[in-house]
Amino acid sequence: MPSSNSHHNSANAQVNHIACPDCDLILSIPSLAVNEVTYCTRCDATLLKNQKNSINRTLAFAITGLILFIISNLFPLLSLKAIGLTQESSLLSTAFALFQADQPLLSLIILLTTFVFPATTLVGTIYILIQVKTNRINTYTAPLFRFLRSTDAWGMLEIFLLAILVALVKLGDVADVIYGVSLYAFCLLILSLSLLSYSLNPQDVWNKLRDKQEVSI
Ligand SMILES: [Zn+2]
Repeated sequence: MPSSNSHHNSANAQVNHIACPDCDLILSIPSLAVNEVTYCTRCDATLLKNQKNSINRTLAFAITGLILFIISNLFPLLSLKAIGLTQESSLLSTAFALFQADQPLLSLIILLTTFVFPATTLVGTIYILIQVKTNRINTYTAPLFRFLRSTDAWGMLEIFLLAILVALVKLGDVADVIYGVSLYAFCLLILSLSLLSYSLNPQDVWNKLRDKQEVSI
């Protein structure tokens, strides 16, 4: 069928120029078939992957993540019981306690890496993907997406979880530790954020933004 073939070719004729994220080599890449992945010819880093439904899947992980984020912050992560006293700690109260203990810088780092950046990532991703899905892209979409991509690595939930686990092992002899529902939500939140990052295909969003821009110009 030559007619459908030529149509197919013209739809896929777009060639992307991409700089390798690892070695900055500029490569031209034709459109990929579904589930196809391209790698850098020089350093073998993953350049592009074309996953089916990447936007829907990423949106699902982001919404799940946001619900888990809210649960993580509503209840205490854990409670410590010793000599008749119970001390409950949540994500925000940890940052606040550090501030009160004259550790303002540490307090700020905890606040940014465990609260501000994860919240920005989740809300921002949901906002952008809904805009892309409903074709309501505005002038702020591209700068916001660029900002989100640049802060992607700033969330440090895993490290915070590791610190909690270390503290638990050390405190286990001294105090009774009661795990809060938030701790489980927090672990699942880390999983959701990893899945979100894995399923997001930035090129899908950039292509939509570029198409929209060409239409408006
Ligand atoms: Zn490379």
